[in-house]
Amino acid sequence: MDMIKTDQTIAYHKNAPISGAWDVIVCGAGPSGIAAAVCAARLGQKTLLLERYGAVGGCLTLGHVTTIMGSVAKGGIRDEILALLSSKSSATAIESEDAKGLLVDFIQANGVTFRLQTPVVDTVVSDGAATGVIAQTQNGLVCFGARRVIDATGDGYVAAMAGCETMLGRDGDGLLQPVSLMYTVDGVDKASTLFCKHEEHYTTLPDGREYISLCKQAEKDGVLPKNVTIVRLYATGSPGERLVNATQANGINPLHDGDTERAEVLLRSQIARINQFLRAQIPGFEHIRTRGSASTLGVRETRRIKGRYILTAEDLIEGRRFEDCVVHRASFAIDIHNPSGGGQSETDGRPHTTKPYDIPMRALQPLHIENLIVCGRCISGTHRAHASYRVMNIVMAMGQAAGVMAAVSNQTETPVSELDYADVKRALLRQGCTLHSAD
Ligand SMILES: Cc1cc2nc3c(=O)[nH]c(=O)nc-3n(C[C@H](O)[C@H](O)[C@H](O)COP(=O)(O)OP(=O)(O)OC[C@H]3O[C@@H](n4cnc5c(N)ncnc54)[C@H](O)[C@@H]3O)c2cc1C
Repeated sequence: MDMIKTDQTIAYHKNAPISGAWDVIVCGAGPSGIAAAVCAARLGQKTLLLERYGAVGGCLTLGHVTTIMGSVAKGGIRDEILALLSSKSSATAIESEDAKGLLVDFIQANGVTFRLQTPVVDTVVSDGAATGVIAQTQNGLVCFGARRVIDATGDGYVAAMAGCETMLGRDGDGLLQPVSLMYTVDGVDKASTLFCKHEEHYTTLPDGREYISLCKQAEKDGVLPKNVTIVRLYATGSPGERLVNATQANGINPLHDGDTERAEVLLRSQIARINQFLRAQIPGFEHIRTRGSASTLGVRETRRIKGRYILTAEDLIEGRRFEDCVVHRASFAIDIHNPSGGGQSETDGRPHTTKPYDIPMRALQPLHIENLIVCGRCISGTHRAHASYRVMNIVMAMGQAAGVMAAVSNQTETPVSELDYADVKRALLRQGCTLHSAD
């Protein structure tokens, strides 16, 4: 790893002058942040990637979310990352342990300097523009100056610290999608063909019982934890394994101090109960054991920044095109895990479908704060739209857009809010993205 040199850091002092030591700082090394950092570095930007935990990958690795879902138009960094992780299709699970190393190698090979175990705690704003971030290091708080800052924290943390306006939760009650801990079991009888992708994926067990009805009944009877009305079982690369997407805590706001901890404790205990249900009731699952689990809570939804455009569910359902498209033909259902119960919130079964839609550059540009770009699940959109574009294929494409926007903004010496889309488009096309198609 490239080491941070002392001349690239500025001892933290609220009033210390900030110099632009880094061209681009990306905060958060999840799927969107990795894409952003690599794409900025490829455009010659001296790029620093800051991550609070000890491995890169965000939900993909530390969250044990090993199924990369959704799709975007062909080309761009997402294709490279999928090839790197050997994910052949959106339905194929990747090996999250391997991904930790492969992604670090990828970041380094592309000339990005990165720091792990370095949480960003504040944003430095000067004359209405983000000019750096303050991070916790072993030497105490350090201020890293930058010409452009990218918030890829998932939580919109940097934007919020900069004073950007943000939105939270669904209309009406402000509730968020539930949090979960993902985990994998092995020891499944290799002859078992039981998989369950969503609430309408009905399967009859060898003894004639229907699997999803069985889950619902088990929740009613208190065998499964409250609101765990479905135990989704995804394929991994191995026939004797399943990735389990089932644990669920409602009413948690990860932005409230103590809520995350409370959920982590609750969900660890749910894993044992869910496994007990599977062992006792599902033929072929008698000998399962937990093979791996998320190192940290899986958070589906927190802040969404208010940007120059707010993407809506209607845009997605209609498959809307935008003049300033930076992600083309994004596609995934409006998958709202019920904020106030089990299953989906808007339908009993399969989530609402969308038509392939565009994401405009404006949804990555926060209002009122200059030189800050947001990517990943915290871009500007409604609660319902977010439930679609938050998946990993789509956030990686957003990351590429953010990295390119930051680079172009520096190269043309144009504030982020005044970026000329034609310049951004040219740079994204050069990086292999498809931004328009005949339809
Ligand atoms: C339980 C669950 C199941 C899911 N299932 C799927 C699925 O099957 N398929 C799919 O494609 N998507 C799935 N998703 C959604 C998807 O994983 C996320 O929406 C996506 O990873 C978001 O990417 P991101 O880069 O925006 O954020 P994240 O992946 O959350 O990454 C953010 C990174 O920023 C870091 N960070 C945060 N704050 C700071 C800070 N202050 N300083 C430094 N670093 C910071 C974090 O540690 C993390 O590494 C699921 C999500 C959850 C929670």
